[in-house]
Amino acid sequence: MTHDASQDAIAPHGGVLVDREATPAERMRWEKEAPRLPALALDKRALSDLEMIVIGGFSPLEGFMGEADWASVVERTRLASGLVWSVPITLGVAPQQAKALAPGADVALKDEAGSLIAILHVTETYRPDKAREVKAVYGTDDPKHPGVAAVLAQGDVYVAGPVTLLRHPADLPFPEFRLAPCQTRAAFRERGWKRIVAFQTRNPVHRAHEYIQKCALEVVDGLLLHPLVGETKGDDIPADVRMECYRVLLKDYYPAERTILSVLPANMRYAGPKEAIFHALMRKNYGCTHFIVGRDHAGVGTYYGTYDAQRIFDQFPPEDIGIQPMRFDHTFFCTVCDAMASTKTCPHDSTHHVALSGTKVREMLSKGERPPKEFSRPEVADVLIRSMRAG
Ligand SMILES: [Zn+2]
Repeated sequence: MTHDASQDAIAPHGGVLVDREATPAERMRWEKEAPRLPALALDKRALSDLEMIVIGGFSPLEGFMGEADWASVVERTRLASGLVWSVPITLGVAPQQAKALAPGADVALKDEAGSLIAILHVTETYRPDKAREVKAVYGTDDPKHPGVAAVLAQGDVYVAGPVTLLRHPADLPFPEFRLAPCQTRAAFRERGWKRIVAFQTRNPVHRAHEYIQKCALEVVDGLLLHPLVGETKGDDIPADVRMECYRVLLKDYYPAERTILSVLPANMRYAGPKEAIFHALMRKNYGCTHFIVGRDHAGVGTYYGTYDAQRIFDQFPPEDIGIQPMRFDHTFFCTVCDAMASTKTCPHDSTHHVALSGTKVREMLSKGERPPKEFSRPEVADVLIRSMRAG
């Protein structure tokens, strides 16, 4: 069913919320035909992109990008239509496989267990210049960068075309928190929220991020806490542990009538500034009007400058992005202010700030010690301590 976004706080990117789920009649037809079609097995990353496409999280994309869109995104951070878009969404296959995938072919897309998930209607195949792609999107061609590594590991031929979803993969995690864009939009409307801020995270929420979220919530109607649960790099904290952290934090410290917790099934790409734009556009599709951009948003290692992900928004006319970035600086508890503060609001030097490195926090948690309550809520610390003991 098409979602009518005309009463929503913000239109989807490009104006229409994409929905690529098959109708029951289409599903029956494709299931009958599928055994005769060439098949491709998708890994977790590709399945996650597929899910984001079919639920409209990547609107206006209706499938995997063709060469004109790919080249345009790489060269000018816009789709061929001119609409802002910062990260190529592509399906790479081995050259040998690509031979069976001529334009006009329908391809059965399967999950790793071999179950039929979707049909890809091939419009073209092409050989991308991956070196050009990674330099433009990630700002580096270093194969140690996890996003670059994922692009290089993809097949060398990209196969493009719209997709039709027959069924979501079985056993997707967090079903009760898996709201599609049409569902978050409906939830915002139901609550009468006109201004909604989204917070992207792939980490447990400690006091610093709680403070940022609540500063934002002071000036809008509602908060969408929107953790990414697609593939991340191996040393990030597992999604189920993070979800438990969010659950206990929200229960005791957030107003239930102003907060929605839902998951974003997208992969992490660690593309820094380009990914900040991408994260914002996805949240626009979920119906959010504001988006929190912190320091080094979506960064990894030392590839990006601390404020690059905030500055990139200034390169576009605000109406081309639509959703409003809210820029936040480094936050902490200051013992002189006796409050949470940031480098923007606290005049005291860092010796008065309760700040712990990631390494220090991990060390404390692994010994069963809670970090100071000015750094982390005890309930959150306890979830992390339990998970480290179990692991
Ligand atoms: Zn201070």
